[in-house]
Amino acid sequence: MAKPFASSADLGEKKQSMEVLAEGVYALTAEGDPNVGAIEAEDFLVCFEALATPVAAREWLARLREHTDKPIRYLVLSHYHAVRVLGASAFGADVIVTHDKTRELIAERGEQDWASEYARMPRLFKEPGSIPGLTWPTATFSDTFTIDLGGDRGDLVLAYCGRGHTEGDLVAWLPKRRIMFAGDLVESQAALYTGDAFHLDWSAATLDKVASFGAETLVGGRGAVARGRQGVEAAIAQTRDFLTVMLREVGAAGSVREAFERTHRELEPRYGSWPIFEHCLPFNVSRLWDELHGVERPRIWTAERDREVWDQLQR
Ligand SMILES: [Zn+2]
Repeated sequence: MAKPFASSADLGEKKQSMEVLAEGVYALTAEGDPNVGAIEAEDFLVCFEALATPVAAREWLARLREHTDKPIRYLVLSHYHAVRVLGASAFGADVIVTHDKTRELIAERGEQDWASEYARMPRLFKEPGSIPGLTWPTATFSDTFTIDLGGDRGDLVLAYCGRGHTEGDLVAWLPKRRIMFAGDLVESQAALYTGDAFHLDWSAATLDKVASFGAETLVGGRGAVARGRQGVEAAIAQTRDFLTVMLREVGAAGSVREAFERTHRELEPRYGSWPIFEHCLPFNVSRLWDELHGVERPRIWTAERDREVWDQLQR
């Protein structure tokens, strides 16, 4: 029997866990669904990631409001993917921050990405009619963007680490607490999505840069919070291993079909039970095949191209 498309048959609600990582630093994880976070400044809040719809975001904000009633000054979006950004209107933030490239990607492919992600993961789009349109950043940067949290709370540093999960990912780094929100550049016990990625850069210089911060707590894009120096290093190593195996197997294959079979065979024993593994792999292999055959920038995923690649590879 054919496998159901992407995560279209995954309709079971995931359990959300609110975690206080340090005083005034919050993460909401959800068994492999996209993670979100918030950081308290002296007299305002910085929120990290916006979920897929305003209705989904408002549920997160209700949990956050049990801890703090400070106004939301900044909404930081790690990259352009729809399930991270389309809930932005619920935050009422004064400033929406992304990397420069993320703004360009929203303009270039935001509409197509919205349609593609909605079809792939309908469960994440709670009341999709509540989305008012694409989310546009109001402040962008190329290297770093620093937010002074006031009092003795130190800075929150937004940093670009190179091309990775997309062309414009950022990480949010709290030096004083040694806590990092890494977006989808690092996953902890959740499969990687690499359909818009730059595998060669990501697996090498970009992850080296992420590791160089020396975080002691790391919230990845999906999966559990990584704790302790060893836990953070393990999450980064696992992300790198996933990419390295893909690079080796796709690089050795003579066709995209063979690339999929080889990659699936090698990754499945270790990662097959992790959230969205089967969902992601056809899109991942398709992109990496392109990357290794001279297609510099990821091709735009449309709902139609999604189906074609799925039917070709995931059968
Ligand atoms: Zn993503």
